[in-house]
Amino acid sequence: MSYTKRVDGRAFDELRPMSVKVGVLENALGSCLFQMGKTKVLAGVYGPRQLYPRFLRNPEKGTVRCFYNMYSFSVSDRKRPGPGRREKELSEKIAQALEPAVMLEKFPDAVVDVFVEIIQADAGTRCASICAASTALADAGMPMKDIVSSVAMGKIGDKICADIDKYEEDYEGGATDIPIAFMPRTGEITLLQLDGEISPEDLKKAISVGREKVKEIYEKQKEALTAKYKGDKQ
Ligand code: UDP
Repeated sequence: MSYTKRVDGRAFDELRPMSVKVGVLENALGSCLFQMGKTKVLAGVYGPRQLYPRFLRNPEKGTVRCFYNMYSFSVSDRKRPGPGRREKELSEKIAQALEPAVMLEKFPDAVVDVFVEIIQADAGTRCASICAASTALADAGMPMKDIVSSVAMGKIGDKICADIDKYEEDYEGGATDIPIAFMPRTGEITLLQLDGEISPEDLKKAISVGREKVKEIYEKQKEALTAKYKGDKQ
């Protein structure tokens, strides 16, 4: 089915309005409040600290561990509290998307804990979590090769769209979601998932649009970090 106009009037490759703030949690070593449209995520970083149980330790490199959680009030139909299968899988995927950017060899045997709380959800929460978490890791002063920036790409009807929202994810004319994360400096992909059907050509197009669009997110992440360390009011 032809998807002629996005419901919120955006261009097909346009991101939702975005806001990034760091240093929002006093107890955490690093933190970030990241908002993309109505999707709002808070990330807090603790560590590196000793990893328990001991058998999980890696003497050659550190571990990034993620805890993803959605508040009950983050969606209109009350999310059941506590981690289910979805939350466990997302926590693993988010950690895997962050690990290539962190210099894990600098903290063998240790773990860096990244907590992400979804305050409000309108699709794309895993991508927003990756953006929030990687900015919080940088805010914590973690040795990193790059920040990770992520966007929920999609094929909605016949159109490749950037930063799809819940309406688009549920679009009856056919919706394929493609969450994707990059280290923008090198363009290296750290997460690529696909739910639905898409041709190889369209997938390549979605990846290349995503690779360009995350540069806008990357700039906002860097701006937030620079603003904090320059002492600007955020
Ligand atoms: N969602 C919901 N209830 C849930 C889980 C998800 O309403 O228990 C909504 C929420 O808006 C979320 C969207 O469905 O952002 C898509 O969820 P998905 O599992 O595809 O992950 P996401 O796109 O958030 O990374």
